[in-house]
Amino acid sequence: MEKALFPGSFDPITLGHIDIVTQGLLLFDEIIIAVGENSSKNNLFTMDQRLAFITEVFENNPKISVISYKGMTVDLCQKIDVNFILRGLRNSVDFEFEKSIAQVNRDMASVETVFLLASSTTAHISSTIVREVIKNNGAYQKFVPSAVTIN
Ligand code: ADP
Repeated sequence: MEKALFPGSFDPITLGHIDIVTQGLLLFDEIIIAVGENSSKNNLFTMDQRLAFITEVFENNPKISVISYKGMTVDLCQKIDVNFILRGLRNSVDFEFEKSIAQVNRDMASVETVFLLASSTTAHISSTIVREVIKNNGAYQKFVPSAVTIN
C-alpha cells in the first residue's frame, strides 16, 4: 500500500488539482490532500471552506482523504508515515520553484517528491487566477469543481 501526500493551499481547489489527484491514483493506492495553513498567504477562503470543498469533491472516493496542517510538509510526512509528496507541474516556473523544495525535503527527511505534468486542458488554471476572477465577479465556475461556491 503506497500512499502520497498532496500538499497545497487549495484556495480554492481547481480542476487542475483534480487532474493531478486523478493522475496520482494511477500510481498510489491512497492520496492524502493536505491543506496548509500559511499565515503569509492572503487567503480568500477559510480553512474550513477549503476543507469542505475538497471533502465534497472526493466524498465517494475512499482512496482520498483530506487534512489540514501547519508547519513543514516533511514533518507532516514523518508524523503520518508518508514517503512521497505529490506535486503538479504546469510550466518551467513551477519546475524551478519545486526543484529546490523537493531537494531540501529529500535532504531533510528522505521524502521523495513525485511530479506529474498538468494536462493541457487544465494547465492554465491556478487558484490565484480563480481568486482574481471571483473577486471581480467573473465566471469562475468553469475552472473549479461544482463544490466550490461563494455566498
Ligand atoms: P501551493 O500554494 O503550495 O502552490 P496550490 O494549491 O497552489 O498550493 O497548488 C498545489 C499543487 O497543485 C502544486 O503542486 C501546484 O503546482 C499544483 N497545481 C496547481 N494548479 C495546477 C494545475 N492547473 N495543473 C496541475 N497542477 C496544479
